[in-house]
Amino acid sequence: MKLNLNIASLKNWLKLACEPLLIAGPCSAESEEQLLTTAHLLAQTGKVSVLRAGIWKPRTRPGEFEGVGSIGLTWLKRAKAETGLPTAVEVANAKHVEEALASGVDILWIGARSTVNPFTVQDIADALRGVDIPVMIKNPVNPDLSLWIGALERINNAGIDKLAAVHRGFSSIEKTAFRNEPMWEIAIQLKTLCPKLPIICDPSHICGNRELIPYIAQKALDLDMQGLMIESHFNPSIAQTDAKQQVTPGSLLELMNMLTLRTVASTDKAFTDKLTELRQQIDKIDIQLIEKIAERMQIVEKIGEYKRDNNVTILQIARWDEIINHRHAFAEALNLNVRFTRNLLELIHQESIRKQTEIMNDQSNLNTK
Ligand code: PEP
Ligand code: MN
Repeated sequence: MKLNLNIASLKNWLKLACEPLLIAGPCSAESEEQLLTTAHLLAQTGKVSVLRAGIWKPRTRPGEFEGVGSIGLTWLKRAKAETGLPTAVEVANAKHVEEALASGVDILWIGARSTVNPFTVQDIADALRGVDIPVMIKNPVNPDLSLWIGALERINNAGIDKLAAVHRGFSSIEKTAFRNEPMWEIAIQLKTLCPKLPIICDPSHICGNRELIPYIAQKALDLDMQGLMIESHFNPSIAQTDAKQQVTPGSLLELMNMLTLRTVASTDKAFTDKLTELRQQIDKIDIQLIEKIAERMQIVEKIGEYKRDNNVTILQIARWDEIINHRHAFAEALNLNVRFTRNLLELIHQESIRKQTEIMNDQSNLNTK
């Protein structure tokens, strides 16, 4: 994946005010008074770099509050003039882009429900051609890294070189404590594919409630994400959208003061020496692990040949149960997480089955007895 990014300008943009980049504001602009009150309180915290507000709201069911529409852009303009905070809004079609640009919005973002649809993203991209504005792209609702990358590429191809990705979690059928599963590995994969692309975490939409936000915000910073987008309303209890997850500007300030900022690299010699030594130990263990897995696979192959020659099925559930139970107890005794151990064993088991299937179907050696 190759994005053409304007890194110097992105760095500038990301340290618009303070560190880490904090984008905050109500889920929806509801009235001029609500937006201005919230914006002033947020500006007073001294922690907020960008004021966000949804003007056009993508709602699951018709008839729900669908945003105040264009009028909200004039409120945002006033909030910016009074607080000095740059503004960001969600755009979901070409008309939104044109209106937001016309009223001087500083940053645009594409929401999760739009990122899923390449037609929508292309429409937005076409409207952005020739425009110089930062654009943030939220991950698609479903856990599909390619769709996320595709949206980034479409906007980048339109000439936008100030891009950031926003990690807001993914829909999942499994009911958990989160509104949207973080699935951190997808954001990490994106970072691996494009290390220079800034990733901003949106703990509000991941959590769906206020209580878990500090935990997700800290984890995002520990994973070296470049900023946070957090929904804030002067009085969340009367918010017309996402009331349960919005925090007051006061709580947001408390949260920001609680977060620990860790550096990616330390220049302290004793620290780097110790880290190098520990990493060497890890490297050695990884090699041993791979050697052991290769050794295990050779035995698996032998068993495969043996099963083939004796016309025995590959999968023997009783044996698999025995492996799982025995290894679980052992792993637990060694303080290894049970779910992790199960996932690891399943992965190894799948590969073993794949290998044995290959052996069974190897025509040159089929048992013809
Ligand atoms: C929002 O930021 O208010 C929003 C609608 O978010 P998402 O697109 O992540 O659901
Ligand atoms: Mn919201």
